[in-house]
Amino acid sequence: MPTIPCLVLGAGVTGAAAARAGRLPAVEAAAHPGGICRSYYASGSTNERLAAPPSDGSAWRFETGGGHWLFGGEPLLLDWLDRLAPLRRYERRAAVYFARTGLSVPYPIQNHLAALGREVALAALCEMARPAPPAETLAAWLRANFGPTLYELFFGPFHERYTAGLLDRIAPQDAYKSPRDLALALRGAFGATPPVGYNVRFAYPRDGLDALVRALVADLDIAFEHEVVRIDPVERTVFFAHGGACRYERLLSSLPLDRMLSLCGLELAEPADPHTSVLVLNIGARRGPRLPDAHWLYVPDSASGFYRVGVYSNVEPDFLPRRPDRDRLASLYVERAWPGGSRPPAEETARYEKAVVDELQSWGFIGAVEVIQADWIDVAYTWSWPGSRWRESALDLLRRHRIYQIGRYGRWVFQGILDSIREGLVAGSCTR
Ligand SMILES: Cc1cc2nc3c(=O)[nH]c(=O)nc-3n(C[C@H](O)[C@H](O)[C@H](O)COP(=O)(O)OP(=O)(O)OC[C@H]3O[C@@H](n4cnc5c(N)ncnc54)[C@H](O)[C@@H]3O)c2cc1C
Repeated sequence: MPTIPCLVLGAGVTGAAAARAGRLPAVEAAAHPGGICRSYYASGSTNERLAAPPSDGSAWRFETGGGHWLFGGEPLLLDWLDRLAPLRRYERRAAVYFARTGLSVPYPIQNHLAALGREVALAALCEMARPAPPAETLAAWLRANFGPTLYELFFGPFHERYTAGLLDRIAPQDAYKSPRDLALALRGAFGATPPVGYNVRFAYPRDGLDALVRALVADLDIAFEHEVVRIDPVERTVFFAHGGACRYERLLSSLPLDRMLSLCGLELAEPADPHTSVLVLNIGARRGPRLPDAHWLYVPDSASGFYRVGVYSNVEPDFLPRRPDRDRLASLYVERAWPGGSRPPAEETARYEKAVVDELQSWGFIGAVEVIQADWIDVAYTWSWPGSRWRESALDLLRRHRIYQIGRYGRWVFQGILDSIREGLVAGSCTR
């Protein structure tokens, strides 16, 4: 068996970028590249899934992981991607939507207190003005930074859903996603404030995320449908589900950190940090009379349990089938979190799908549904227990076996597509 000097595991955006920068071979479990950053197409008449768009433009474009927008990013990286697959630029339109009252408050809620009325705004401001004590858990951190009023109204119920109930057991994380700026909060209690946060502007490939991914992997040596089922880190051998194997000197792995430890048969004394899974529902429907023009909405109180609904077609009409009634259609993605790996059985998913459609119709967001597709993201959000050293220990243990973890799931960090691509490019270049 020949030995591969450096093998990349996974051809999501991180692995694909690493393979490209290092001219390295890669193996991928799926039949297509892109991992969760991948568009697919659904025929309106048959609901059949297609990997590439049909030439007559008659299909709905959806994404495996729900709306995947390219946030931020250095100009040089964006220019390079733009040459691979032309990008279009957008200004974020996001809001918090209270399902029970129909009230919509621009995102982030803490900078738009005027929309919540004088009494709530005053209470929230007084609470936010107090110094925030250190906090051990995400729930305590949110309460300390935004005060009980906003916590009870939005931060608590929203994060309860977003973390699938973990919020008072996990460490605070990614504070930049909930920016706290008292001066802006004060301005927002009386009038408009400028948009803030990491995703104020974003880009998206003109021909779909799949076009970008295809360009990223063009001419690469990727073995698709090669699921890794075991790794012998001493003999440095990777075994595949179909029975083959290959030897390596080094691995660049974008597979989830906890999964890599178990594939290698390596154990740590401390418990693994948790993750949450997400079920994405992609819906193509008639446009409802009250569909807002937002790109996405954070929902703390949906009856069916989802925490976010996005409207692909509000970003770009090209997500819709090209046909005469196009302007009466809408395409949406709806995300609900589950405790890591606890995928609901098919009947429960079917019940949930129906509940979501009923709810979106009752809000006036959609009319009759034409297509609906469900995608399960097993490792979607990674978290850590307070004080945990598991991540560092796991990365170190694998490194000692010449296995280098890369990417959002490989390194167990929150990061977007552009950071993942950048990281893959750097890792791949360093192997040359
Ligand atoms: C719900 C959700 C919404 C998001 N929205 C955005 C957004 O709008 N903008 C943004 O910038 N980021 C977003 N992200 C983050 C973005 O998805 C990640 O940064 C990015 O997908 C990470 O890519 P990756 O290649 O590291 O991982 P992955 O996409 O998970 O790729 C890993 C690859 O490894 C393969 N693999 C797994 N196991 C094996 C095995 N045993 N053998 C072989 N291959 C295997 C998988 O099939 C996959 O192709 C979102 C994430 C989630 C969960």
